[in-house]
Amino acid sequence: MDAFLINWVKKSEKRQANTELETDNSCSSSKKPRIKEEVVSKIVLETPVLNDINCEDADFDLPVCWNKTQANNFQSANDWLSIKNKSLGCRVCKEIKTLGAYADKNLRLSTVWQDCLVQPNCTTKESQQSSLRKKIFEHKKSEAHNKALEISTQLKKKEIDCQVENMHEKHFSTTEKVFRTVYKIVKNQRPFVDLPHEVDLQVLNGISLGKILHSDKTCAAIASHIATEMKKNICKDIISTKKKISVLIDESTTLSKRTVLIVVLRVLFEDIPGDPYTFNLDLIELSDASAESITKELLRCLNEHGFDEFFLKHCFIAFASDGASVMLGKNSGVATRLKTMFPNLVVWHCSNHRLELAVNDVVDEVYGINHFKIFMDKLYTLYHQSPKNQNELREAANSLVPKF
Ligand SMILES: [Zn+2]
Repeated sequence: MDAFLINWVKKSEKRQANTELETDNSCSSSKKPRIKEEVVSKIVLETPVLNDINCEDADFDLPVCWNKTQANNFQSANDWLSIKNKSLGCRVCKEIKTLGAYADKNLRLSTVWQDCLVQPNCTTKESQQSSLRKKIFEHKKSEAHNKALEISTQLKKKEIDCQVENMHEKHFSTTEKVFRTVYKIVKNQRPFVDLPHEVDLQVLNGISLGKILHSDKTCAAIASHIATEMKKNICKDIISTKKKISVLIDESTTLSKRTVLIVVLRVLFEDIPGDPYTFNLDLIELSDASAESITKELLRCLNEHGFDEFFLKHCFIAFASDGASVMLGKNSGVATRLKTMFPNLVVWHCSNHRLELAVNDVVDEVYGINHFKIFMDKLYTLYHQSPKNQNELREAANSLVPKF
């Protein structure tokens, strides 16, 4: 009997709700037409019915003339609409609080809408519904509400910008940590393949190092980048403080059999105690190994690093190289050419190269050392037989071995 009664009550409630919805839909043809009534009804009727909208307000909280479906319809059409204590309000106007300097002095946000106190005016259900519809429509079109919407959108955009900025900051921070790790590897003369292991260790220790820039190839690229930047800074400092420089050069041959020139700089920094600071400035590929070409390329290289003619005239004080005639030739060697341009230049025959020449002369004159030299050559040949050196070995066998 009880179950039958409950069923009957439920059915009756459902019937009532349907009747109310029909009444509401036919409201536009009400006997009391009002201004803009047709437009308002059209907006409401065209709005899709979204029954799954999250309406936190329970049925008893809705305005007396509305049912839950009607409330959902209105809220889906106007996402700023809030319902509380049988009254309507505006979420956006409430959030913004005041228009402040964004609008004219005369423009004010409606406090009734901000405090969620909007209620229908009339007594009958239909006229109450019309009244609410009109109030919603008018608030939606009001200048103050639209200004509040604009400010709200701008604030949201700013929030997104802020989030993007934070994300960038995080990326920079992880990149900085990876760079520091690479610097440590290079400073300790460790191989680039150490980087993945270093990263694993730091991640285990709870340090975030991101997900990229962890390979040995990246390690080489980062090391090269750091070196370039550091070199730029050092050159800048030398130029700005007008420090005296010495240039050391030597020729070499690459694996691809090209002639290159190694340029080394020696500078005395007051804040670094001890010997002058020596660093590799550049490696230049030479088109030919003539004195003219070497001089031209050397000056071009120095210029590229910021050492212009004016600086060199005042601060280029010494030049050192091996004793080859191209370098130190009396008439047209590189040193002679440089000396004509910079008359105060001190030219120095590299001590290490001189020592090598002295040892060579001794070996030629003292027979007893020959056995030792042959032993050393055999050792060289053995270690030179690495697969990577096979091509060079063939040439070495032709050129070096028959001499001894
Ligand atoms: Zn509003």
